[in-house]
Amino acid sequence: MSPASQPPQPDLKAIRGSFLDFIDDPFYVPEADSVRYLADGLLILEDGKVKDFGAYGELQNRYKELPTTVYAERLIMPGFIDTHIHYPQTGMIAAYGEQLLEWLDQYVFPTEGKFQDKAYAEEIAEIFLDQLLSNGTTTALVFAAVFPQSVDAFFEAAERRSLCMIAGKVMMDRNAPEALCDTADSSYQDTKALIQKWHKKGRLRYAVTPRFAITSSDEQLQRAGELLAEFPDVYLHTHLSENVSEVAWVRQLFPQCNGYLDVYDQAGLVKQRSVFAHCVQLTEAEFQRLSEADSAIAFCPTSNLFLGSGLFKLEQAKSAEYPVKLGLGTDVGAGTSFSILQTANEAYKVAQLRQQKLSPFQALFLATLGGARALCLDDLIGSFDIGKEADFIVLNPRATPLMACRHAASAPSSLSELADRTFALIMMGDDRAVEATYILGKLVYEKAEATLP
Ligand SMILES: [Zn+2]
Repeated sequence: MSPASQPPQPDLKAIRGSFLDFIDDPFYVPEADSVRYLADGLLILEDGKVKDFGAYGELQNRYKELPTTVYAERLIMPGFIDTHIHYPQTGMIAAYGEQLLEWLDQYVFPTEGKFQDKAYAEEIAEIFLDQLLSNGTTTALVFAAVFPQSVDAFFEAAERRSLCMIAGKVMMDRNAPEALCDTADSSYQDTKALIQKWHKKGRLRYAVTPRFAITSSDEQLQRAGELLAEFPDVYLHTHLSENVSEVAWVRQLFPQCNGYLDVYDQAGLVKQRSVFAHCVQLTEAEFQRLSEADSAIAFCPTSNLFLGSGLFKLEQAKSAEYPVKLGLGTDVGAGTSFSILQTANEAYKVAQLRQQKLSPFQALFLATLGGARALCLDDLIGSFDIGKEADFIVLNPRATPLMACRHAASAPSSLSELADRTFALIMMGDDRAVEATYILGKLVYEKAEATLP
């Protein structure tokens, strides 16, 4: 056989270091049975997927010929998952002084208008993806703008980088500037064409994306429901019960509905692949309905605090009786950071203000496997299980002088010591703690050497 006709050799390599991931949900399963920590572990990668994973001592003989990258005194985790973010709002993060409805009028709508220009959308999409990767976020559920070309710009950029991303065109036909409005029919046609173009193209997925009940007519929501019926494996991504004035306005706009969630339910939008951002003002019955429907919530603490929306009822979402799938969302630009570590930090404080605790393992579960479950992607990403796609990050728990002072150099010797170290990492860490990001086993981001301590 000539060399040219031989099958290509698999791309095999190994990563050695301390690994942390989850095999179950630490909100319901004791940490000893849900947290997987390997102080000295070996991750074997083949063609972008996890081929093998275990203790170095057990696997080393089988793979000693492989090129191995060693990360000493680091923590390797599955890539973070952001379950709610707006890429067009990248350039208007940290806009002063308003709550939700005024903030949309004053800042968001003028900014999103610029995404009619595809070249501008392309430029922002690249900055946005650079930000995600440098913050250790490898998958996100993303709002584009109302213009179909803003979705093309995003997916083209994500595809070039081989990223697992879910996104969609905003559907919005009222209570917004005319230049930003589509119609019930055009939003249906445009979304359908985008689904056919992008959904399941490589690692990309499509989300039908009405902005929220206030900016969609009943007819538009019905057409969104038709799309979900026609394409059962696409997602639904929208906002729900964020702010008190918003909930009151929805009641006026939809007097025939029994509350905010019911507006979406009556349009056939409350399903297994439906992700609702915020849910701060949700009633108990609405939490129950989301649980029954197997829908997901994106908990966006930095955004909820920034816009003064309120404190998410974490304990109700993660109740034993009516558990709801839950992930963390940065919600940039109302969220104040691209960092899922900082988002987990604020989630902890929101829980504290409600006299609840969010343990570091619970927070990191939400950031990884929990987020993957919320997005129905846990068969592909979210942990180091064999066969999964190898999107992972290398964290430096001693990334700053203060973090180095707080955090011993030696690997933790018990689960409680690991909990203490990861808690400090969540409180003090951000993009400075993300040393490397891998997509499908390939290094795509590395922090500049000079900034390491
Ligand atoms: Zn949002």
